[in-house]
Amino acid sequence: MNDKELLETACLYGRNALLWRQKFIGLLPEIHKRELYKKKGCSSIFEFAAKFGGLSNDQVRLTLKLEERFTEMPKLHEQLVTGEVSINKLARIASIATKENEVELSEIVQNMSQKAVETLVRDEKFTGMRAQTLTLNDEVKNRLIVLQEKGIDINELISSALNKREQEIAEEKAQPVELATSRPLPAKTEKLLTKEHGTKCSIPTCKKPSEVIHHKQTFALSHRHDPNYLAPLCKEHHEIAHAINLKVRSYKSVN
Ligand SMILES: [Zn+2]
Ligand SMILES: [Zn+2]
Repeated sequence: MNDKELLETACLYGRNALLWRQKFIGLLPEIHKRELYKKKGCSSIFEFAAKFGGLSNDQVRLTLKLEERFTEMPKLHEQLVTGEVSINKLARIASIATKENEVELSEIVQNMSQKAVETLVRDEKFTGMRAQTLTLNDEVKNRLIVLQEKGIDINELISSALNKREQEIAEEKAQPVELATSRPLPAKTEKLLTKEHGTKCSIPTCKKPSEVIHHKQTFALSHRHDPNYLAPLCKEHHEIAHAINLKVRSYKSVN
């Protein structure tokens, strides 16, 4: 075997090994219920799983716990027992899954990486949470204090400055967008996005730097860099956006 063949064969075997392991894990709850491990001379499901699948007690415990947790969630239950989705991903999802959202979750999660799943779950848990500290520099602080002492309503002042900014962005976004010939964004559009979203991912709860400008309208079809349909996203939220895209619109809109 040459280097390339050796490496590719190893990767293929590795992927298959993971897949078969996942399928093995999926069968454990039923083997446990029917106490079939006894027929192989094992005293418990833990011994059976270690002997035939090289699993740790923790992994078996997690599997049994998930199976119980998904009793009334048939879709997630199916993903577990068929070995379609790993127990690590399902464990994350379990913390936000309900009877109402389990079908949507199972569809989204299917092809997502572990990291993206973790991000999705974190978003759900911390929706609405914001940093509470403002860092005003001394100059701005002093100027505001002076104004406040003069009896000027500084909240209204700041509020109108923010409104003005939003207005400007809205006007720029309302400009007609020409057909684009290439994929890189025009400098003007990039500037506008930075003005609107700063340098971070545009998902409100996310503080990671933006790495990709996501086209909410597929560029290959629209041929437009319309800022109304562009979103700077971090790597994980980009993956989530594509997983959710067209699938579950109501779940969480990506702005
Ligand atoms: Zn994208
Ligand atoms: Zn993000």
